[in-house]
Amino acid sequence: MAIASINPATGETLKTFSELSPPQIEEKLQLAADTFRTHRRTSFADRSRMMQRAAEILESEKLEFAKVMTNEMGKPIKAAVSEAEKCAWVCRYYAENAQRHLADQVVETNARKSYVHFQPLGPVLAVMPWNFPFWQVFRFAAPALMAGNVGLLKHASNVPQCALAIEDIFTRAGFPQGAFQTLLIGSGAVEAVLNDGRVVAATLTGSEPAGSSVAATAGKHIKKTVLELGGSDPFIVMPSGNLEEAVTTAVKARTINNGQSCIAAKRFIVAAEIYAEFGRRFVSQMQALRIGDPMEESTEIGPLATPQIVKDLEEQVKKAVASGARVLTGGRRPDRPGNFYEPTVLVDVDTASPVSCEEIFGPVAMLFRTSSIDEAIEIANATPFGLGAAAWTNNAEEQRRFIEELEAGSVFINGMVASDPRLPFGGVKRSGYGRELAEFGIREFVNIKTVWIGESKVNTDDTE
Ligand code: NAP
Repeated sequence: MAIASINPATGETLKTFSELSPPQIEEKLQLAADTFRTHRRTSFADRSRMMQRAAEILESEKLEFAKVMTNEMGKPIKAAVSEAEKCAWVCRYYAENAQRHLADQVVETNARKSYVHFQPLGPVLAVMPWNFPFWQVFRFAAPALMAGNVGLLKHASNVPQCALAIEDIFTRAGFPQGAFQTLLIGSGAVEAVLNDGRVVAATLTGSEPAGSSVAATAGKHIKKTVLELGGSDPFIVMPSGNLEEAVTTAVKARTINNGQSCIAAKRFIVAAEIYAEFGRRFVSQMQALRIGDPMEESTEIGPLATPQIVKDLEEQVKKAVASGARVLTGGRRPDRPGNFYEPTVLVDVDTASPVSCEEIFGPVAMLFRTSSIDEAIEIANATPFGLGAAAWTNNAEEQRRFIEELEAGSVFINGMVASDPRLPFGGVKRSGYGRELAEFGIREFVNIKTVWIGESKVNTDDTE
């Protein structure tokens, strides 16, 4: 894919970029390696000051950054402003907590003293997606830089201006030039970067094929990876759950970011007793969403990021219908230019058809009727993914079972799955491995060094 900003609401090419040449990549890798040598020795207080400054820049210029995001990938402008604010939050969180997360941990053993000591690893490559073009990067960069690592960003090819803006934020915040660099390269150039000995680890947020390719290359060189991949999150509603809240949250959870979120609720599994009523209210709220220009404050559903995503979505809806599903609303592109797709609700999807558990990246919801909690859990787990899961119930035993039995990296009871700097984030099964955020995230790219200091008799040899 060429590196270009193309406005998804209009199809207009805003700017194109040339890929870095091999000598330019070489220069940046060397700068990263050189900068690591000094950055690793800076104090937490110094790193904190710079990270706080990055938060201030994000907050004071949030509308400008939001426009860059919306122009490149189409998220509604209000959501883009919130994304910039959330990035400021994660910068502040790690500015305030990194030193505590990485403080030595004394462990009593037979040694005179033994403890765990955390040290940075070096330049880490971050391969990132376009869907939360600031957030995905900051949730990697804030802990990585606070730990003393340096970052190399290979962003998705459709959000180069976001990538450059992020590099500029860290530079203006006072981080040395090589602490966080954007590499304008296509996915074909990632392997060579990962093969380079100066790059010590990689994190990838994106699709399964991309994750498995990066992990395979890193594996050849025994380099650590963290993978945050796709999801087909279940959203279960039981009779004791608050129906009104569940429906409103369900609509939001499916359509957030125009439906292009890894942790969007994608499969709605509803108890038979309330299925009809849930369906009626859900369809009516999906129909009421305002589709429009993402630059307008009132827009709730903007365009999908690329024409290919609309094509993939149409294909998935077609497959579902071919396997017996009915379309209750939507199921088509609205009559306007840009990559738009109507909010869509499908019912009677055959649970044996592949589309029933695939990741659907767009505003298309599938409703499933369930007659018991056992069946609800079975449908919820019938997917290769295991990112997030939500369940609505006020019954304590049902809550316990969902927490224990749902195969996911997070379970939210009576709420919407969302990331929060204070809580770990990540998946199981084909949703990836490793964790971001909280103290778990900052410890992914550090050497967890065991230090053991014994007693030794003082040398009394006086032959000198
Ligand atoms: P994608 O096609 O996998 O792209 C993600 C990144 O990987 C881009 O920078 C892309 O570069 C690069 N890439 C693609 N193929 C590669 C390869 N073979 N080797 C090295 N790099 C490669 O995914 P996307 O369409 O941008 O994003 C949507 C996916 O991300 C969904 O599956 C979504 O669920 C997942 N996601 C997961 C999380 C999470 O936290 N778990 C969060 C957000 C999104 P190019 O753009 O140059 O191709």
